[in-house]
Amino acid sequence: MGRHCCVRAEVYGALLFGYAFRPDEVRVVTENGALAARLKLLFGRLFGFDFDQRAGRPDVGKHTLVLSDRGKLAALFETFGYGGSPDVALHLNNAVLENDCCAAAFLRGAFLTGGSVTDPEKKYHLELGTPRAHVGRETITLLREMDFAPSLTARAGHTVLYLKASEQIEDFLTTVGASQAALALMETTVEKDLRNRINRKVNCETANLSKTVEAAMRQTEAIRRLRESPLWETLPAPLRETADMRLAHPEEPLAELCALFDPPLGRSGLNHRLRRLRELAEDR
Ligand SMILES: [Zn+2]
Repeated sequence: MGRHCCVRAEVYGALLFGYAFRPDEVRVVTENGALAARLKLLFGRLFGFDFDQRAGRPDVGKHTLVLSDRGKLAALFETFGYGGSPDVALHLNNAVLENDCCAAAFLRGAFLTGGSVTDPEKKYHLELGTPRAHVGRETITLLREMDFAPSLTARAGHTVLYLKASEQIEDFLTTVGASQAALALMETTVEKDLRNRINRKVNCETANLSKTVEAAMRQTEAIRRLRESPLWETLPAPLRETADMRLAHPEEPLAELCALFDPPLGRSGLNHRLRRLRELAEDR
């Protein structure tokens, strides 16, 4: 389920792309039972409380999650950094995406409540819709920073961001976590053909994993040699920290290893340090 910061970012994305997100009510409506279950789970983990129990019969075929308890709402808005401001939740509060790891979690949440993927006659289309215009534009900026090229349109009072290129759609889905579990969540919206393509991509990534493990083994070997040499004592602290981290987590993929640093390291930063360590071990 991920780090605490990412759980918070995912819930935030789900609410900003959900139905109501106001000081007096938070409401998410979905036809997808798995989505409702995931959101309840994340909610419990983040806040330690559940959505309100609703009196009366639920709408047929729909899951409605409601929060109107004032104490719970206050705790929720506090968590997302809105100190009682009247225009709460109209903007994306970037402070909630505090670490590099959080952007993908935020988009996953947004996709859970506001997203859909279709393949009408092979014209690929993935979209995210939100009733909050500013949030839509701010999410466009976030996506561009992540090398996506989204377009923007408006439909039925919603701001809709969409991706057309199939490579971009696949990248988006793998970025937000197109594991088998995520794919099951998307079952109602992802067309079969596209799902197969993503499955192949996920399988391919599994194959890449063994290569990753081999690379990690070469790294740990080099680091061990380095530690036994006199050079070790002269290394700058960031390199020694990186070496220790790699030895403590020898099989962790790079992205996960980045997240273990405090504060988390960027991918290229970590790559650079590991490369430097290998070079040092070689010309020792
Ligand atoms: Zn995070």
